[in-house]
Amino acid sequence: MSFTHTPPAPVTVPVAGSSDLFPVHRIYCVGRNYEEHAKEMGFTGREAPFFFLKPADALVVIPDGSAGTMPYPSLTHNLHHEIELVVAIGKGGKNIAAADAAQHIFGYAIGLDMTRRDLQNDMKKAGRPWCIGKAFDHSAPIGPITPADQAGDINHAEIYLQVGGQDRQRSTVAKLIWNIAETIEHLSTAWELQAGDLIYTGTPEGVAAVVRGDTLVGGVAGLGTLSVQII
Ligand code: MN
Repeated sequence: MSFTHTPPAPVTVPVAGSSDLFPVHRIYCVGRNYEEHAKEMGFTGREAPFFFLKPADALVVIPDGSAGTMPYPSLTHNLHHEIELVVAIGKGGKNIAAADAAQHIFGYAIGLDMTRRDLQNDMKKAGRPWCIGKAFDHSAPIGPITPADQAGDINHAEIYLQVGGQDRQRSTVAKLIWNIAETIEHLSTAWELQAGDLIYTGTPEGVAAVVRGDTLVGGVAGLGTLSVQII
């Protein structure tokens, strides 16, 4: 047996403070999971959680303390930032109760759910899938994964994004509509989670456009910062 072409290298994210690498399986994303962001998108913020996916190779892995780059994607004239807390699953399972969710979490990272908003809005209007707006190449910048026991009180951590040194988004993980444990409970009824899954948990209000040359600096208290320049 031989491969018809060279298999892709595994997608990995470094573990903060270690030489270990976290091999990525899937990227799940939660939609409209902060009430004020749901409102700015024209919704009430009171709906059940819903999910979409990005391909694992959409990650742009940015090592600790360095500034990464993301190419401005094709087809869009309205590239939006969404700063998000990312949960890294260390132990899989299905129908995980919220009370048991913590034992399935390896750690946490800072991520950006970059969005071609114009294309997403076109798809929404047409009742079509969001893939072209959400799941494009380089759409998921991420920093190192901090193990859960080193991340502090992540459920109450401040989360923010600045562009060019100015605040665009600033909130707290405590304002998640569906908190981390509840998200894992819901998600694991729809898919069997596996070690290596990443969950982008949703973004607070303040999403807006960026252009080539902009530098985005995002943070979640306890996880450091994530710095990305759009090129
Ligand atoms: Mn998002």
